[in-house]
Amino acid sequence: MKIIKSIRQMQKWADGQRRRGKSIGFVPTMGALHDGHGSLMRAAARRCDSVVVSIFVNPTQFGPNEDYARYPRDAENDAALCRREKMDVLFMPTAEAVYPEGHDTKIRVGRIGEVLEGAVRPGHFSGVATVVAILFEIVRPDVAFFGQKDYQQTVVVNRMTRDLNFPVKIVVSPTVREKDGLAMSSRNRFLSAEERKTAGVLFKALQKGKERIGQGERDAAAVRDAMTLLILEEPAARIEYAVVANLETLEEVSEIKERVVLLLAVRIGRTRLIDNLPVRP
Ligand code: AMP
Repeated sequence: MKIIKSIRQMQKWADGQRRRGKSIGFVPTMGALHDGHGSLMRAAARRCDSVVVSIFVNPTQFGPNEDYARYPRDAENDAALCRREKMDVLFMPTAEAVYPEGHDTKIRVGRIGEVLEGAVRPGHFSGVATVVAILFEIVRPDVAFFGQKDYQQTVVVNRMTRDLNFPVKIVVSPTVREKDGLAMSSRNRFLSAEERKTAGVLFKALQKGKERIGQGERDAAAVRDAMTLLILEEPAARIEYAVVANLETLEEVSEIKERVVLLLAVRIGRTRLIDNLPVRP
């Protein structure tokens, strides 16, 4: 596996692949890799001749009071995991290379970037869209892989790819979970043993919501309340949002008539966790 840090080198490598007629799969990440990332790598390897994994903790998608400085960084383990998954390239650009002095161009995401995560984290999706566009342009992948775990991110990336006609196919892979249902996340390592037990409540609440819809509940407020009540039983958990939303617009629905997505953001102590579950009535 090649570890590439320079943008120029990355472009050269990708050009070489294309010249040889080899398809390129791309898995953008922020590192502190776990099996959720692993599943994206395996999906990419199945589908493409070569796979590039990037690790870049993107400063522009973190708010001023968020955890950019303390976001977990673990380059050695990350490289080992990528090697085990037989990745071709691990691309690790520096923040100075991605945003050189004077960098002044951003992608503005519309309404879908302003609700939910975007409402709690203003500017977050502009940062995500901008870095994904920059990375797409460096790697120029045929297919890029994203996790359903970050549901709103997949909607934003899909929208941008279509709006800007990027010649990239976006593939979304299912959320990989721990035994108790907790979605794997780099931030889970911040949880104390006690908090880790509490964190299982997100998936339980989503399951509860799904169960209510399965039993015929069509009032979104009732489904939302069922999820909320379950989380409120955990004193250490603080809900940021718990909603039933349209799959594409992410607007909250009042009546459940078609497929919806249940979305949660919950703080457990100092750690902020998100999860979601698409449900068909
Ligand atoms: P991150 O490093 O957290 O920015 O995530 C990089 C990519 O991995 C994103 O497309 C995430 O949605 C995806 N991802 C993170 N956690 C999981 C998970 N538990 N299951 C599936 N994909 C995931």
